[in-house]
Amino acid sequence: MLLDVRDLHVEFRTRDGVAKAVNGVTLGVDAGETLAVLGESGSGKSVTAQAVMGILDTPPGRITGGRILFQGRDLLSLKEDERRKVRGAGMAMVFQDALSSLNPVLSVGDQLGEMFVVHRGMSRKDARARAVELMDRVRIPAARERVSQYPHQFSGGMRQRIMIAMALALEPALIIADEPTTALDVTVQAQVMDLLAELRREYDMGLVLITHDLGVVADVADRIAVMYAGRIVESAPVHDLYKAPAHPYTRGLLDSIPRLDQKGRELNAIRGLPPNLMDIPPGCAFHPRCPMAGDTCRTDVPPLHEVDEDRGSACHFWRECLHG
Ligand code: SF4
Ligand code: MG
Repeated sequence: MLLDVRDLHVEFRTRDGVAKAVNGVTLGVDAGETLAVLGESGSGKSVTAQAVMGILDTPPGRITGGRILFQGRDLLSLKEDERRKVRGAGMAMVFQDALSSLNPVLSVGDQLGEMFVVHRGMSRKDARARAVELMDRVRIPAARERVSQYPHQFSGGMRQRIMIAMALALEPALIIADEPTTALDVTVQAQVMDLLAELRREYDMGLVLITHDLGVVADVADRIAVMYAGRIVESAPVHDLYKAPAHPYTRGLLDSIPRLDQKGRELNAIRGLPPNLMDIPPGCAFHPRCPMAGDTCRTDVPPLHEVDEDRGSACHFWRECLHG
């Protein structure tokens, strides 16, 4: 397994108390596999990604338990300089907001080239040639001319392609993309998703796609892990999950995707709000919002039940949900 996260716990200490952002996340990604991590904001998906990348804000954040194995190495035992080597060459991240991640006063060619100068000891001239090559690979038209332009001279979609090119530069084994298309128009979203899927195949990488939007990952993900209040509540191959969710929260998310054949119909969004991470409800954290909640749900934390050999649900009533 390329990435193997086991029972990860992350807390944030704030003035008002301890926010339990990640509460025992276990997930794995194989080489060549695309895993979508789905959840509302505050579900712990970005924090999990930051912990994996080693870019968590510490303090206030703190990993309080669990292991992160990458290509068999225990990342949490590495020193910061070793960790830095893993970042970039081993795994790279694409963020939502390309404009604030790119340097506004450096040309995109200089920023892309910098990767090769710093990490590969290339000359400026060779690095520039590699930058053009990378821009080609992420399908930026007229790369040779545009390599000298600045980030603001590109559209949002093109800027996101530049971010993807930066992530690809050192040919990492894993890319983690955190809401890579959220800031973009719907049509551009699909193009950027397709590009990521294509590059994933081309480079035979593992890909983790973090999103709050089940609609945008459906066509590109192999598996989906659904997060709620810092836990994985359902994990399944994408087609199984679409066909019949085994968790009421997943069902709610599926019901809230707008469908072309249901134009004008009110979206069946999940009622209520995600919990305060400083005060997570006892039992199943989803119970205050769950249409299927029973008495046990208010007291007993549901373990991740095995629904199938490659499928799990953290719901006491997963059978009823699956067949309901
Ligand atoms: Fe709903 Fe209970 Fe299942 Fe939680 S355990 S999702 S509250 S039915
Ligand atoms: Mg986030």
